[in-house]
Amino acid sequence: MADWQVAVIGAGPGGYAAAIRCAQLGLKTVCIDERLSTDGKQPSLGGTCLNIGCIPSKVLLEDSLQYSRLKEGHPAFKVRAPAPNIAKLMERKNKVVEGLCKGVAQLCSGNGVECIYGRAQLLAPGQIQLDGKTDITAEHIIMAPGSVPVEIPAAPFNGKQILDSTAALSLPAVPSTLAIIGAGAIGLELGSVWARLGAKVQVLEALEDFLPMLDREVARQAQRALASHGLDIQLGCRVTAAAVEGERSVQVSWQQGDATHAESFERLIVAVGRRPATEGLLATGCGLQTDDKGMIVVDDYCATAVPNVWAVGDVVRGPMLAHKATEEGVMVAERIAGEAAQINYPLIPAVIYTHPEIATVGQTETDCAAAGVDCSSGRFSFAANGRALASGEGEGMVKLVGCPVPNPEGSKAEMRIVGAQVVGSGAAELIQQVAIAMEFGAVAEDLALTTFSHPSVSEVLHEAALDLAGRPLHQIKKKRGRAKK
Ligand code: FAD
Ligand code: NAD
Repeated sequence: MADWQVAVIGAGPGGYAAAIRCAQLGLKTVCIDERLSTDGKQPSLGGTCLNIGCIPSKVLLEDSLQYSRLKEGHPAFKVRAPAPNIAKLMERKNKVVEGLCKGVAQLCSGNGVECIYGRAQLLAPGQIQLDGKTDITAEHIIMAPGSVPVEIPAAPFNGKQILDSTAALSLPAVPSTLAIIGAGAIGLELGSVWARLGAKVQVLEALEDFLPMLDREVARQAQRALASHGLDIQLGCRVTAAAVEGERSVQVSWQQGDATHAESFERLIVAVGRRPATEGLLATGCGLQTDDKGMIVVDDYCATAVPNVWAVGDVVRGPMLAHKATEEGVMVAERIAGEAAQINYPLIPAVIYTHPEIATVGQTETDCAAAGVDCSSGRFSFAANGRALASGEGEGMVKLVGCPVPNPEGSKAEMRIVGAQVVGSGAAELIQQVAIAMEFGAVAEDLALTTFSHPSVSEVLHEAALDLAGRPLHQIKKKRGRAKK
């Protein structure tokens, strides 16, 4: 008989959620993780997300935003010149992280999950080796090892001048100049943090398009807004070398079009993506397949080709997002327990927590056009929203994308909401409202008929829905054709 009914490798948002749900469903569950707290003194659950990802970055984003607002001042108030105290900032970040990681440990033990500290390797189906010596057997194994930063030959990490995201979350002082390779979620979020705190930030992105997965109009607005907040984003850049020149200097060389550039920066952050953390995880002959990116191959339900071995989170296809990992962990736990759980993958929202925030769910007009699907959009600007203006947050827009569906009660087609993109303050909260509406199969008219409290920023969604339904109230109606097939 196996030691456990379920063994989970990794206690990030995918692994710990899977373990807790398994235990709640009555399965004898163990969760193994090798991560230690920043001081190296104790095991720290919560994975990348809580320890070195979502949460510490959001603390720094929030605090640096407050600092930048203080620094900008307010016409009606006299504020003495503020100065950042980085040690205090890091202290608060570490405290939030520590509290949440301990919370995960409490949740695990409270739900009856046994947590073991150590490095696990999948030896064979049903068999794990811990720290190269102890064997653990389980009826089901859930692989949730997450991901690690990608390193590029032109700029290998050295922990001092050339940093990965983990080191960039713990800088002891504000660098005067900072280069970032990669204008993705990490580059933009960490670039925002250090720019707000006073660094001169240059972002070097390889692609010609800024955030290509976004609606182009929204991406343009976001790029303009970020530039006005101190992020110099250069597109079409191929970084060729990063040469350390001294304790506080690294020379970065890059090619942009026909031009060659070389500039010195105090620090360089490399944020060019993450790769699955499968190094040393899969023993030869364990049977699991990986794809060309090193991801463990799974089906729509996170089952691998090996019976009773599952994989969730950053180590499998799909966006590398904490909430996606969690939903997959819960789905797998429920499927092991015999339930028919599934995930609505197209409705996973994604947010970049810059200021303004950038958020998206479902399809863009470009996606619809590429798929040959008839669609149109309703939009509204934050600049015409009273609450946004009252808060000094009039920058941004929302776009709601809809596809015509027959209206059972009338002759005019209704617009089924198939996606939304938001750039603006609080976009993360707004996109969630659209995701909920889409989960319920809402048409624009459903949102249009909903009463929104006034004044609220959410009214931008109401107005976009009214626009999509063809009866905008607080904007002049323009004659607009549907996006061409
Ligand atoms: P992880 O969270 O990476 O957890 C995996 C765990 O497994 C780790 O603790 C690791 O130590 C352990 N492990 C790995 N191999 C072994 C082994 N062999 N034995 C034992 N233990 C092992 N996502 C969002 O949705 N929103 C955000 O705002 C956001 N911000 C981010 C900011 C940063 C700076 C970074 C780096 C990432 C961010 N992410 C964000 C991404 C998010 O952190 C990941 O998508 C998420 O953590 C993935 O969860 P996971 O459970 O798959 O893996
Ligand atoms: P990313 O994939 O989001 O962005 C990487 C960027 O680097 C891309 O724009 C890519 O074109 C560019 N790039 C790649 N190689 C390059 C090169 N050699 N030179 C210049 N540019 C190059 O990856 P990331 O920002 O490192 O984030 C890693 C993962 O973590 C992502 O999958 C993301 O979903 C997740 N994450 C999410 C959030 C969030 O949800 N708010 C925040 C941080 C990280």
